[in-house]
Amino acid sequence: MHELLMRYAPACGEDVIRQLVQLAEPLRGKRVVHVNSTRAGGGVAEILEKLVPLMRSLGIDAQWEVITGSGDFFQCTKRMHNALQGEQTPIPRALLETYGRTNQENAGRLQAQLEDADLVFIHDPQPAGLLRHCQGRRGKWIWRCHIDLGHPQRQVWNFLRAEVVLHDASIFSLADFAQALPHPMVLIPPSIDPLSDKNCELDPAEIDAVRARFGLDAQRPLMAQVSRFDRFKDPLGVIRAFRLAKDFIPGLQLVLAGGGATDDPEAAAVLGEVELAADGDPDIHILALPADAHRTINALQRAADFVLQKSLREGFGLTVAEAMWKGKPVIGGDTGGIRLQVVNHHTGFLVNSPEGAALRVRYLHHHRDKLQQMGQRARQIVRENFLITRHLREYLTLMVSLLRGQDGQDIRLS
Ligand code: UDP
Repeated sequence: MHELLMRYAPACGEDVIRQLVQLAEPLRGKRVVHVNSTRAGGGVAEILEKLVPLMRSLGIDAQWEVITGSGDFFQCTKRMHNALQGEQTPIPRALLETYGRTNQENAGRLQAQLEDADLVFIHDPQPAGLLRHCQGRRGKWIWRCHIDLGHPQRQVWNFLRAEVVLHDASIFSLADFAQALPHPMVLIPPSIDPLSDKNCELDPAEIDAVRARFGLDAQRPLMAQVSRFDRFKDPLGVIRAFRLAKDFIPGLQLVLAGGGATDDPEAAAVLGEVELAADGDPDIHILALPADAHRTINALQRAADFVLQKSLREGFGLTVAEAMWKGKPVIGGDTGGIRLQVVNHHTGFLVNSPEGAALRVRYLHHHRDKLQQMGQRARQIVRENFLITRHLREYLTLMVSLLRGQDGQDIRLS
């Protein structure tokens, strides 16, 4: 039964697997339903794709349901998403009514399953309106917020808050992303999957092939940042840091790898600015990769001597954990979740300027032993804190504590 889970043992250690099995013991056979608004695309779907089978491999009767809605509904939830992350545009009442109606319809469709579940995880704002229509529910409901609610537009947050407070607990990714709520609130940071194409071990030949494909010289040092072409990721700051560092490191090369700029006008503009700043420098490699280039990104992160994530503002910063897992110390902007991952001078460096970043690149170049040591510690920090197995453990812990003692139904803790 634990076959899937056992595949993670080489990455996280067998003790961790044993602990998960033990922790899940009181949850065996419990009905758990995760609800979100899309089966594919985006981080939430990606994590559910892994977590639901892992829960099932622990004997939990976990299911994943997706709510459906009209174009108006998704227009409303898109605006909600932007407003909750700080955009000041209000949402017309008619759209908010569509939100309520769509949740009511979905609650009707999923009623039996939701009301019968022992635990329901509602992911993000889209399905948060289901609970008020499930009056006969017998289980505990958890609202799992994946977005940054630190500075929401008030009208929209007040609307959503009225739904969220009906839940029994909320989960946020970082303390800075949370709003005060009158029920238990838990912080559970995101995680990476060590077995995914993005993070699995690669054959050196595959890394060499990626170098060759992009004209990178294996004999010369390489600096890299993997990020969407977005001003908050500060690609121009990275180019400036590269130019400063190059004065001290002859032959230094730079890769800026990001997603293709097809459907985001701002990304296209930023890519244009980046190309302008690179000014045809043959040592600056700007790569617009397709969305599914996971193994290519994996190889580039492994090929890099110096990994930067020079964000000016950042959510969690998954790319940081990805690089650290590959044994790279990260030179990261002193902001958001980067601070949670990069322990300054220990697993990387926190910087506030291109000059600071260049200085750290130069330091690591001249102290390869330190680079090695910091990289090993970086991998260890990820192993202990940011793998999907830790994510699963924290969900299990919360599930056990919420079910414990509920309605006289005592959960036995081993
Ligand atoms: N990513 C990717 N292709 C790209 C750029 C980024 O697959 O061209 C991935 C990256 O490896 C990471 C995620 O997208 O897994 C970005 O997450 P992060 O938290 O770093 O930043 P966000 O884009 O969510 O602000």
